[in-house]
Amino acid sequence: MKLLLTGGRLVDPATRHDGVADVLVDDGRVVEVGPGLEAAGAEVVDCDGLVACPGLVDLHVHLREPGREDAETIETGSRAAALGGYTAVCPMPNTDPVADNAGVVEMVAARGREVGLVDVFPVGAVTLGQRGVELAELGAMARSAARVDCFSDDGLPIREARLLRLALEYTRAFDAVIADHAEDASLTDGAQMHEGEVSAMLGLAGWPAAAEEMVVARDLLLAQLTGGRLHLCHVSTGGAVELVRAAKARGVRVTAEAAPHHFTLTDEAARSYDPVFKVNPPLREKADVEAVRQGLADGTLDAIATDHAPHAREDKEVEWAAAPPGMLGLQTALALSLTELVGQADPERSVQTGAGGDTRPGHLGLPTAIERLTAGPARCRRLPGHGGPVAPGAPANLAVFDPVAAWTVDRAKLASRARNTPFHGRQLRGRVVHTLLRGSFTVRDGQAQR
Ligand SMILES: [Zn+2]
Repeated sequence: MKLLLTGGRLVDPATRHDGVADVLVDDGRVVEVGPGLEAAGAEVVDCDGLVACPGLVDLHVHLREPGREDAETIETGSRAAALGGYTAVCPMPNTDPVADNAGVVEMVAARGREVGLVDVFPVGAVTLGQRGVELAELGAMARSAARVDCFSDDGLPIREARLLRLALEYTRAFDAVIADHAEDASLTDGAQMHEGEVSAMLGLAGWPAAAEEMVVARDLLLAQLTGGRLHLCHVSTGGAVELVRAAKARGVRVTAEAAPHHFTLTDEAARSYDPVFKVNPPLREKADVEAVRQGLADGTLDAIATDHAPHAREDKEVEWAAAPPGMLGLQTALALSLTELVGQADPERSVQTGAGGDTRPGHLGLPTAIERLTAGPARCRRLPGHGGPVAPGAPANLAVFDPVAAWTVDRAKLASRARNTPFHGRQLRGRVVHTLLRGSFTVRDGQAQR
């Protein structure tokens, strides 16, 4: 299928392109990029007024298959991802069974290919059964057909410094990444929300910022000691952002992500006692939200990752203390980024002019926001063909969106099997129009094609 995307504003962080350009796609690949292209026999897709960019990349999702297909499946999660503008997602290994061996990661990758809505790059577990006792067969997963290049015990921290050190040393041989969920569990036993004024007032057990920052500090020291590649999941506190900034300045091989709920919501949301706002790490304070925004603006935080965590209604719609932590994210991440990071001050003006150099605190120009959703996450791992460039010869993995269209989040209309979005009823700007995976529409005019 030959497609000519005409008249859109092409924002490609990999080539620093930002301007109106046509994109010609043939046989799954980008063939030509430039103004006023003509191509006999190509179907013309009018992108006037829209933004075209590389397909979005999500480093951190939970697709719940195998084991909890009542909450989400690789198919429903892939559909939510495509509708969110994504062409690549990285599911975490905390499934049942745990993805701690070649068989499970190969099954997840194969199911992703079969569904065919996004490329699925599974993350393998660091320790057997995520029990934190002995290393899983990292080499076997790396050599498997799934070619795993990232390992994590996410959901849980790697408690023992010795094991994290071993993993960082061992994975140097195949240049893989260890992604840690930074939480000192001895400080968060029974914790229900961020520890601060609100938790004190509500009488809920607190999850102190120090429990995240201590582990971030430890992890950074071990990355420095071993020379291994460390990635920090869902950074949520100002202190953690500062630690990453200082480590990067002294050359530690570290990358880091932040989740949309951590740059949009605060612990004040817990006052509702609605467990849809319960998440791990928890929603923090306003100063932390500002620090996360600033970390994304200056590149301390490389990527926006959703930590999409669907839960079945009977599990999540219970009293706060009994509810599992986690929120949906795939269909709202782009719009939250545009509304909250780009359009904070003056949505019309900043979206339309949006060059990178806006220096208001916590404010990102449109190209920078797109970088944190595409090339930034792609750089944290090996995800061939994703994150750009949008250039001749590259696979045509693309998202096309309307940067100013307003819409209201309706949990009943999301493609996920679960309903636990904390953004139900919220009006956002920025709507995905088309998503292309290797030149085929996975989403067209806002509709999933499968
Ligand atoms: Zn986590």
